[in-house]
Parts: sequence; C-alpha cells; structure tokens
Amino acid sequence: MWAFLNGEERPSYFINEVETPHYSTIMKKIVFATSNPNKIREVNEMLGDKFEIIGLKDIGCTEEVPETQETIEGNALQKARYVKDNYGVDCFSEDTGLEIDALDGAPGVYTARYGGLERSADKNMARVQTELANKSNRGAQFKTVIALVLNGEEHLFPGIARGTMRKEKSGEGGFGYDPIFEPEGYDITFAEMDSKEKNKISHRGKAVRALIAFLEK
Ligand code: IMP
Repeated sequence: MWAFLNGEERPSYFINEVETPHYSTIMKKIVFATSNPNKIREVNEMLGDKFEIIGLKDIGCTEEVPETQETIEGNALQKARYVKDNYGVDCFSEDTGLEIDALDGAPGVYTARYGGLERSADKNMARVQTELANKSNRGAQFKTVIALVLNGEEHLFPGIARGTMRKEKSGEGGFGYDPIFEPEGYDITFAEMDSKEKNKISHRGKAVRALIAFLEK
C-alpha cells in the first residue's frame, strides 16, 4: 500500500512516523479517529513512549465522521475506513457500547444518545435507571471494538468489561456512564477510580492493549 506525502511516495504505514527531539528513536504517530479528548488522553496514557496518538483535528478532519452501522464492530470499521479513504492515513478508530443484560443488549450502538440527541451523560444514566426500575438483573458490560486500517489490511481488537449498573451515582471521575457502572470484582464505580486504575480493567484498556501488542510485533 503506497501513499503520497509532500509529493513523495512512501509506504502508507511510514507516513505517520516522525522524528521527535525528545526521543532518540523514531516515535510513531498514529491517528486515532476520534475527536473525543477524554479518549485520546486515556489511550495516550497507555501507550508509553513508543507511540503518540494524534486526533482528527491534527489531520484537518473537523467534520463528523459517519457511524451509521447497526453493530459496534461495523461502526468502528466505518470510521477507520472513512479516515483512510478521505485523508489517506492509516489509523485506528474505536466504538464502544453499553450492553445491559436485562434490556437484551440495549443501548448498544445507541449508547451515546440513549437519553436524547443532546448526548447528555445525566440523561443517558436517567434512562438506564428508568428502564431498569423493575428489573432485578442489573448485569451489564461495556464493549469496545478497535478497528485498525494498516498497510491495506483491516484488523479488529475487542475488549469487554463486565459489571453491574448501580441504582445511585457515585464518583466524579471518568465520563459517560462511569458513575453508575461498578466493574466486576470491585465495590466502587469506574467514576471512583483514577484513570490508570480504570485503564487496567476497562473495555477500552483491554482493546488498546491488544492493539499495542499487535503494533509492536
Ligand atoms: P463511543 O461510541 O466510543 O463514543 O461511546 C459511546 C458512548 O458510550 C459514549 O458517549 C459514552 O456515553 C459511553 N462510553 C464509552 N466509553 C465509556 C466509558 O469508558 N465509561 C462510561 N461510558 C462510556
């Protein structure tokens, strides 16, 4: 797979490589097809100093990247393909959904807008509480799928975090549904963990570590 950068033809994987003054070796810059700064921060924290993540704004992509598929895998692939097709860079994207057992896996691909189109975390959590009001099973999972487009090939890296939906919010950290999600094996919510602790067990943490293991090969 070849691409042009500054008029020079190079293998597309290498167009994301840069020399930085702070590192003696070449540090790989990888485009993460997201404009969510929380996610860029979380993933950057996990990558160490071999890779640096850059976001969509850094490659001049300011429009909304389409995610219109009916599965988390489909949405992740759609976003990565869009960036590759329109900006010519190898990249990875991720899509995450909350799947609640008693709701047959809802909200799934509607997780971001479960409480309304304004995508308010408070309204999303309120809808979960309404839907679960008469249910005894509060089991749920976050599922992340990372889609990587690299050298003309596509790869998927899933990550799952099981837990339960709390009846009351607890904690100030994290984002989204974190204040009501208690991960399995813990008696605190994601919002009560610092981001390093969350990354160790989270859906996104697992998917990102699988991605890194692949990229380091
Ligand atoms: P996205 O498709 O990856 O942006 O995720 C969809 C929605 O899932 C987000 O808008 C959040 O509401 C929720 N979400 C994703 N990751 C997390 C997380 O780590 N904790 C809590 N909520 C999350």
